[in-house]
Amino acid sequence: MTSQPNHAARCNTPQVTLTEHGLAIDATTTIMAAYSTLAISGSLALAALFASGPDMRCSIERPAKRRSATDSASNAHTGDKVRLESLVPSAVAAAATAAGYETGCRLVWADRIGATFANRPRLIEAMDVGTGFTYERAAPAHLGTGAIVSRGDVPQGSYLVFSVGLGVPTVQAVARVEQIPTTEALAAIDGFAADRITAACGRCHRQWTARDGRPIFDPADPDGIEWDLGQAANLGFITGTVDCPVPDCPGRVGFTAAGGQA
Ligand SMILES: [Zn+2]
Repeated sequence: MTSQPNHAARCNTPQVTLTEHGLAIDATTTIMAAYSTLAISGSLALAALFASGPDMRCSIERPAKRRSATDSASNAHTGDKVRLESLVPSAVAAAATAAGYETGCRLVWADRIGATFANRPRLIEAMDVGTGFTYERAAPAHLGTGAIVSRGDVPQGSYLVFSVGLGVPTVQAVARVEQIPTTEALAAIDGFAADRITAACGRCHRQWTARDGRPIFDPADPDGIEWDLGQAANLGFITGTVDCPVPDCPGRVGFTAAGGQA
């Protein structure tokens, strides 16, 4: 993760991988394409908070209540600290709201399982932090009786939390953004879309497109043929190509993420 968006990397199309299980687009690459496009900065503090281990004791408090860096966990006051029982973004926001902070969390993107080619489902949540806060995280020390304490500041602002995975998704990055994008705006980001894959033969130059996570390829030409990846011959897992389905064409068909605008 970087603290600055890398606009130079915006145009990298995510790689399509061919395996015996089918075609897959790397979910993390698509997530980072959206991050690079939208972030005005990273939020290392929120990312670190969400990445805390289950054995860590985490709390938030208003910045004015922040103690000096010389405090240790052994004398940490409990004052206005809000203990966090769960570190998923919606739970952090709910705990903050319950304590009187202006905070909200909502879903802006969730892949439907099986409806994209992403190798892991993607989740993007928006956090509106109206009341900035400081988090404190205490990890039990392996030696001695103290705890290792770390802190981070989360200023007021709008944030996007990018996660991938089934069940409890793993947070990949947190971006501070100008404003929360619409679902349509997210879908249109170059390199983010994972629902379409284009196939092209280098020999006969025909093209096809598969949509919505289904490896059924529709021809770009009206007189072309439709084909199913499951019927493709001579799958090349290293080259990521299959035999061209056009009769008598000796070419190989390669795959790219269609991405971008629908
Ligand atoms: Zn061909």
